[in-house]
Amino acid sequence: MNNANNEYIIVYNIGELITSSDPWIINNAAIVIEKGNGIIKDIDKNITIKDKYDLSKHETIDVKGDPVLPGFIDSHTHFVFGGYRADEYLWRLDGQSYSEIMKKGGGIVNTVDATRKTSFKDLIDTGKNRLDNYLQQGVTTIEGKSGYGLNIETEIKQLDVMRSLNNQHPIDVVQTFMGAHSVSREFKDDKDGFVNYVIEEMLPVIAERDDVSFCDVFCDEGVFTIEQTKNILTKAKSLGLKPKLHVDEIAYVGGAELAAEIGAVSAEHLLKVSDEGISRMAKNNVTPVILPITAFSLQEKYAPARKMLENGLDVAVSTDFNPGSSHSYSIPLLLSLSAIKLKMNLKEIVKAVTINAAKALDRDEFIGSLEPGKFADLIILDAPSYEHLIYNIGGNIVDTVIKKGSIVHKKDKLQYEKNNIMKGDK
Ligand SMILES: [Zn+2]
Repeated sequence: MNNANNEYIIVYNIGELITSSDPWIINNAAIVIEKGNGIIKDIDKNITIKDKYDLSKHETIDVKGDPVLPGFIDSHTHFVFGGYRADEYLWRLDGQSYSEIMKKGGGIVNTVDATRKTSFKDLIDTGKNRLDNYLQQGVTTIEGKSGYGLNIETEIKQLDVMRSLNNQHPIDVVQTFMGAHSVSREFKDDKDGFVNYVIEEMLPVIAERDDVSFCDVFCDEGVFTIEQTKNILTKAKSLGLKPKLHVDEIAYVGGAELAAEIGAVSAEHLLKVSDEGISRMAKNNVTPVILPITAFSLQEKYAPARKMLENGLDVAVSTDFNPGSSHSYSIPLLLSLSAIKLKMNLKEIVKAVTINAAKALDRDEFIGSLEPGKFADLIILDAPSYEHLIYNIGGNIVDTVIKKGSIVHKKDKLQYEKNNIMKGDK
């Protein structure tokens, strides 16, 4: 008698299993997942798993030879916001400068006004829709930043929306407080006053919450200085929030060096990073997060990904989805730009959206690779090999998404096989 029935979910007949760990690929593999908690129990060759476990006694998923990878992790987004700035984007394509656009009421303040006005429910609805789009492209964990409130009330509203979405959606939402994203209207001519407001009034309230992991600051020319950033992040750290930084995007300000000095988990953007900054990040274990869709959208020079990789950095790449500089949640575009513009190879790119992205969120102990003890967040591709992630330009080849052992998405069926098709001119 076998009493241990139905204890596991067994994903079998995997053609290429890309683990994002060591060994990198296992051909003809299977994964055994504990049913109660969604944790990987065993990974091996198909034939070995079939020997060790009686497949007829467990729940099974037959992959039929397709490739399987860890679920993608988007480690830098601003996906909760009100309103849109499509008009501004077209003005910019028309050649108007950022300062001209600001004069017409554009820029971050535009989104801040809209986000303050948008109801909790509307932010949930648009946020959920965006997460659904991410999920269909294989994303199983996402980071989301506040920073479109710039006052306590709206910063909290954004964080509450993310917490609620985390509870109701299969994607795990990792929350970052970014009150120092820009100076609010209320402190227009008093940047130090705003920095004080963030430190003295916002941070203590935010740090009380148990759902916010990180504090991020936009440290760059015309935004917050190195000194102001250091003051905010030092306070954040003392309250238990881990530092992240938007740095060296507009101009070189020594932001990567600051990230290393302050013990930041990640430094993001880095278009203008210095060689010294790169080597200090490497020494201090700071994960660089590169955002090539933003550089593409703004027609900027790309961050020096190769130099970072050659210095031993674990480069992550991310969409930076936001209403201004990167209105895109496209994972296929992210992968293509990483290959063609950042000159990363297939293995580096897969690591950049799995294990290295997990490092950028300080979650690599639990997710980002497929190995026993980690969560079974994985995707099945509709392609003969995982090379098609790069070969297929701009297309979504994710067929099935599995979160902690449960299928949470399967590619939609087209409707024309069921419905009548009308053709001709009558
Ligand atoms: Zn950003």
